Amino acid sequence: MCIFCEIVAGNIPSTKVYEDDMILAFKDINPVAPIHIIVVPKEHIDSANSVNTGNSKYVARIFEKIPEIAKSQGIDSYRVINNCGENAGQTVMHLHFHIVGGVKLGEKII
Ligand code: 5GP
Ligand code: ZN
Repeated sequence: MCIFCEIVAGNIPSTKVYEDDMILAFKDINPVAPIHIIVVPKEHIDSANSVNTGNSKYVARIFEKIPEIAKSQGIDSYRVINNCGENAGQTVMHLHFHIVGGVKLGEKII
């Protein structure tokens, strides 16, 4: 099992901030901002490259819940980041979205 599947299974502890039948959100272990949440599908999907019509419902659920998760952390302005693949900095090969905020964010890439 990958690290995030282990977290979903409860084998590795995490600070959960939201959970339902399809997705889990927890605090990043190495935050880059005051608020740094990772949101994952409970089903293993390698990366954005592996999203398809059969599993896109997980991505839909994640984006339906992002505003609620952000609000629960006291923010309504934030950056959502997905790193897809090694050259983009993806280190955990389980699809995930970073919610980063709680501070005036700096330099933009795009
Ligand atoms: P990536 O670089 O793949 O886009 O993001 C992976 C993120 O997962 C990193 O920000 C890293 O700090 C976080 N992370 C890695 N392992 C763990 C862990 O065991 N627990 C938590 N809470 N976050 C983790
Ligand atoms: Zn996984």
